Amino acid sequence: MKKDWILKNKVNVTSPKLPKFELYTRYVKEIWDSKWLTNNGPLHEKFKKELKKYLNVSNTELFTNGHSALEVALKGLELEGEVITTPFTFVSTIHALTNCGLTPVFCDIEEDTFNIDVNKIEDHITSKTCAILAVHVFGIPCNVHKINEIAKKHNLKVIYDAAHAFGVQVGDCSIGEFGDISMFSLHATKVFHSIEGGLLTFKNTELSQKLKALKNFGITSEETIDYVGVNAKMNEFQAAMGLCNLESIEDDISHREDIYNVYSQGFKECKDIYYLPRIEGVKHNFAYYPILLKNNKTRDFLFEKLKEYNVFTRKYFYPLCNNIECYKNESSDTPVAMSISNRILTLPMYSDLSLDEVKHITKIIKHELGENIE
Ligand SMILES: *Cc1c(COP(=O)(O)O)cnc(C)c1O
Repeated sequence: MKKDWILKNKVNVTSPKLPKFELYTRYVKEIWDSKWLTNNGPLHEKFKKELKKYLNVSNTELFTNGHSALEVALKGLELEGEVITTPFTFVSTIHALTNCGLTPVFCDIEEDTFNIDVNKIEDHITSKTCAILAVHVFGIPCNVHKINEIAKKHNLKVIYDAAHAFGVQVGDCSIGEFGDISMFSLHATKVFHSIEGGLLTFKNTELSQKLKALKNFGITSEETIDYVGVNAKMNEFQAAMGLCNLESIEDDISHREDIYNVYSQGFKECKDIYYLPRIEGVKHNFAYYPILLKNNKTRDFLFEKLKEYNVFTRKYFYPLCNNIECYKNESSDTPVAMSISNRILTLPMYSDLSLDEVKHITKIIKHELGENIE
């Protein structure tokens, strides 16, 4: 422990991006003038149009948060039975299935991408399987082409939890164009946010009307209610924040890329630290910087040690979703996910983090691992 290396200011794993105050208040003035606070207001419509253009997707619908958006997507596809998914995700993914009356079936993950292992999906297919719910973990795209192939062959729907994948492209194609529906989270801690918020993207335009109705109590017109819906609408203050943050998104992602490069340069020679490599042909968003340590003891040591330096990392995702109290009985054997969950540590990554701070954190990690681990 080097006492003089302690950071003066606390560094967390993430910190929300805030636009210029004046930029936000300009939109707030518009809200006061229109007196339109929610229910498809003018800022909501503007934000929706701009997002569709920025992401280059066929259709979008906005929601109050990502989790509700995911539940509405599952309802919209009228799924019933078992859904093959990953245990290496935020618990929201699995709760959404359960809340919609679906049974999660946990499939193991790939060692190098931490995403659902496409070579193991078919082992889990039964007569009750209706869909695959895959997660682009840390913004790294799943093997979308193989998943599409499996789904076609077995007549399954595909939903992507793209909560981490805002702005990611595979070739020239937005990540939101794969599968039947993709969900993006616009929560304050994500790469791009609208305070709280969610977004569904989908190719099939016929779904629009239904998804719109489902987020507004199932109401389809003044006197017709066709679905058992929920209340999951995005309000004007959220849309205003989204519009402000959309102005700087390219710069924000570019700064995250610089952070990625500083960390990766620092860890290049460390054989006991694995970090996610860039994938050829993918436009990354550098949402997170997870590292994989050689064992659980080292991970937990580093997690605690970094706190002493004022650096607060997170064990994303630990515990695994098939290892937590409410899903323990969903029997599953996912040894790769288990091993990764025990060894993973997510380092600070956000748009206001300076490259000097990143260099410093890298130096601390290398020092502590070199000195204290045999
Ligand atoms: C953040 C997140 C969600 C939930 O999104 P909210 O906007 O917070 O409701 C779902 N899945 C994953 C993987 C997430 O990281």
